[in-house]
Amino acid sequence: MARRARNEADESRSLLRHDNLRRAMQVIVQHPGIATRAEIARTTGVTAATASSLVAQLIDANLVVEGEQAASSGGKRATTLHVDGSYYALGVFVVTPSDIRAALLDLNATVITEQRVEGTPTTHIAAIVAIAQQWQHDYGDRLLSIAVQVQGATDGEAVLESVAMGWHDTDIAEPISEVFSGPIRLVNDVDAAAVTEALLDSEPSGLRLFAYMGEGVGAAVTIDGRLLAGKQGRTGEIGHVRSLVGGHDMRCECGRIGCLEAVASFQAMVGIDFTENTDHDALARHVTAADPERIDQGALALAQTLSLLSAMLAPREVVLGGAAHVLGEPFLRRVQSVLADPPRGTLPVPVRFARQGAAPFAGVGQAALQIALGLAWGPAQMHPDAGR
Ligand SMILES: [Zn+2]
Repeated sequence: MARRARNEADESRSLLRHDNLRRAMQVIVQHPGIATRAEIARTTGVTAATASSLVAQLIDANLVVEGEQAASSGGKRATTLHVDGSYYALGVFVVTPSDIRAALLDLNATVITEQRVEGTPTTHIAAIVAIAQQWQHDYGDRLLSIAVQVQGATDGEAVLESVAMGWHDTDIAEPISEVFSGPIRLVNDVDAAAVTEALLDSEPSGLRLFAYMGEGVGAAVTIDGRLLAGKQGRTGEIGHVRSLVGGHDMRCECGRIGCLEAVASFQAMVGIDFTENTDHDALARHVTAADPERIDQGALALAQTLSLLSAMLAPREVVLGGAAHVLGEPFLRRVQSVLADPPRGTLPVPVRFARQGAAPFAGVGQAALQIALGLAWGPAQMHPDAGR
């Protein structure tokens, strides 16, 4: 960002400015403990000597460490390579109307420190800046970047509009840049969840339509694991589109009548205000006690919207994320039944719930990693036991 002064820290942050260096690093991120210099040469198409030189630079830069010897297939044993999690840090914030969770992650997506600060949208920005300043003080140039997950539409620097936060054109990057000179990025919460789903794929491919059920109803589209942003990053703001089925006498929180959220939000279907801090076991009890017809109507309204979007986008699959899985099999089957019976000229689309168990802060952490080093995590970092 041009308005932020360049300094020595920018030098270390542009370590991966050379494409071959970044590609070599990406191989190690994808296959930690398996990647070797020979593997890097083979995958990236450089000579063995170049691969050795690239790895030497990555080790010098505190980005890579050598591991044990790879399994021998005859001849000289090769040394495996790992991402160095001990030096650099990524700063992440997850902001909701009632609290902020702040964490430092290492380059393996492992949480180094984590804290939670209760507050309101009017106190949040000062709290974020104070924590960022402390991180900068403690970590200096080892803090590579900061990413902030927010509810509402964002262009990456400001929250353009958030009904939940009461924010309108609220710049978050600017106040952080007063205390931190590295790259800063805001990311929408639904987009972060869709990216997390993609990070669980070993090779993300195709177009995925991701619907998110949280405090509202949102959507995101990923293509080969990358977000479709749209103008001002507003792709997927479907919550206040008029519902195709039912709800036409129901008033929405936004003031209009008959929005999708007026039929298919947790408030509409289960009768409780869902927040990011709602306990899933308690929510499940409310789902069990709720009127099944209301849940069915919500499922149908969501499914009809997804059906129209699927006719437009022809996705490989539809994934229902956020707390959708708490609604259980009847909800899923209802959505599936609509998308399995496609309009003429379109294909049936499989529907499933999002996978659970990704590393905490994965989506917002990926945004921080992307702006710092241009890299993408994968299953090895999302399921640490699998990759090491
Ligand atoms: Zn509305």
